[in-house]
Amino acid sequence: LQACEHFYIVSEPIPGLQALPVLRVPDECAYYKEDAGKMMLGAFEPKSKPWGMNGIPESFEFDQLPEDFDHFEPILEAAVNRMPMLAEAGIHTFFNGPESFTPDNAYYLGQAREMDNVWVAAGFNSIGIQSAGGAGMALAQWMEDGAKPFDLGDVDIARAQPFQRNRRYLKERVTETLGLLYADHYPYRQKATARGVRRTPFH
Ligand SMILES: Cc1cc2nc3c(=O)[nH]c(=O)nc-3n(C[C@H](O)[C@H](O)[C@H](O)COP(=O)(O)OP(=O)(O)OC[C@H]3O[C@@H](n4cnc5c(N)ncnc54)[C@H](O)[C@@H]3O)c2cc1C
Repeated sequence: LQACEHFYIVSEPIPGLQALPVLRVPDECAYYKEDAGKMMLGAFEPKSKPWGMNGIPESFEFDQLPEDFDHFEPILEAAVNRMPMLAEAGIHTFFNGPESFTPDNAYYLGQAREMDNVWVAAGFNSIGIQSAGGAGMALAQWMEDGAKPFDLGDVDIARAQPFQRNRRYLKERVTETLGLLYADHYPYRQKATARGVRRTPFH
């Protein structure tokens, strides 16, 4: 796993703002939610910021990271164009928190290879709340029955290879994977970063 910074802002209260549907604009890497009379705007920017390469402090738990306005500015600029009321409303909160990413943007579920009877549900790539019910149910049934309740190939931790512990590989690769959350998910998409870590003898 590799941590990455995830950014969102919450506006000041906007007079007259009522409940709105959640909006995702993948082309602008942005999501919007109405939140108690304020607008929340979050981003899955194309080039993300990995965090914690020199270790994560023992005491770090659900904490905030420093804001980085320059990094968020392109998203905000497009958002103000999309939702002009954001230009009028001030920013109440600028939030930056780390999240856990995997090299292929799919979470790790299943039995750890190295230890008997240790089960993993981790690396939720920013959709851990959204996925919790299903991932929990699937893993519980898998633990109970000793067999996957349905096809979980794309999230099975068995796909992880030892070379993927390489820290430079992880850091480079997650600069890309966070941004891919809002990219086209076509089959067999090849990642562009951290190439050449493993080569065949023919190479
Ligand atoms: C800013 C931000 C916005 C997000 N927005 C969304 C969203 O809109 N939708 C969505 O689906 N997801 C969102 N997420 C992602 C979601 O919060 C995570 O994917 C999810 O919380 C991960 O759950 P988890 O159980 O894997 O890990 P965590 O929630 O991190 O839980 C791990 C737990 O393990 C505990 N722990 C750690 N070390 C030890 C130890 N040694 N011994 C015992 N306990 C330990 C920790 O205290 C913690 O309680 C967001 C995350 C961030 C940071």
